[in-house]
Amino acid sequence: MCGIVGYTGPREAGSILIEGLKRLEYRGYDSAGIALVDEDGDLFVEKKAGKLANLQTAIADRTPHAAIGLAHTRWATHGRPNDLNAHPHQDCTGDITVIHNGIIENFRELRDGLEARGHGLTSETDTEAIAHLIEESYTGDIAEATRATLRRLEGAYALVVMHRGENRLVGARQDVPLVVGVAEGESFLASDVAAILAHTDRVIYLDEGDVADIRPAGVVVTDVHGAPVERVVTTIDWSPEAAEKGGYEHFMLKEIHEQPTSLRQAIAGRVTRNDRIWLEELEGFDETLRGIDRVELVACGTAYYAALVGAAAIEDWIGVPARATFGSEFGTARRRSTRGRS
Ligand code: GLU
Repeated sequence: MCGIVGYTGPREAGSILIEGLKRLEYRGYDSAGIALVDEDGDLFVEKKAGKLANLQTAIADRTPHAAIGLAHTRWATHGRPNDLNAHPHQDCTGDITVIHNGIIENFRELRDGLEARGHGLTSETDTEAIAHLIEESYTGDIAEATRATLRRLEGAYALVVMHRGENRLVGARQDVPLVVGVAEGESFLASDVAAILAHTDRVIYLDEGDVADIRPAGVVVTDVHGAPVERVVTTIDWSPEAAEKGGYEHFMLKEIHEQPTSLRQAIAGRVTRNDRIWLEELEGFDETLRGIDRVELVACGTAYYAALVGAAAIEDWIGVPARATFGSEFGTARRRSTRGRS
């Protein structure tokens, strides 16, 4: 789960959003994207696999003047990390734009239903379904349509929604962090305060189930049914640098404390609702898999440690011999073990 930044106010949204994504780069990601509504109400969207620099190059010299927009760095859970699957995602009309951190567990049935009702989904993501569901509920109020959609989602999300014709952003969270930044005449949304701390030190940490309606003049927070809820504005006294470390003294300490969450997030897209592991890429290979009598994991550096854990897990769960080997030694190790066996 990666980075979210949203902005609405009098300044250039494009540069504020890209700068915010840079502040979140330390988290790692596989692609990045941005959507802006320009002064004429036209939507500009660009998204690129790989480093944020790829996105910056793609929008250099053609970023429109815009006072509202959203941007995202993705860590793929559903669908390959490529340009098409990168966020933002849109509905059929192209008016509704969504970015999302997290996983929609019932995405398969939602996507199937949308396709049966004639929607053309262009990506492999769970996220795109959200944009089309909002389209179905939309009757002129993007916050209302978002809330109606949230009531149909199962899973974890922090999301930001924008309609080309409405000067507001809607943020919502469930089991994934999202903060609102408040300032004079402008408002922000971010997955992490580090993204917006250069602009404001006043933030609202949204609670589970909160929906925030963000406009330049201020923020209204409701529950998923539209009932207003009171949320306190907290003043952050960290510097932007300290914020990146989440208040910990060192990145190392922060990352140690993040281990349970990181592990949970890393496998979350592979765990089904009845707690089974599901590897989409292996579907249709049952026969081949049953014929495997040993597994070689070839790796290097940190990946070697992961391979050691993987080998132990494979032996334990599947009962097939498994071995981790350094890439540089693999040929020799293989020859040795082949000779040993004969
Ligand atoms: N599940 C979404 C996807 O795969 C969001 C991933 C994220 O949290 O970055 O596109």
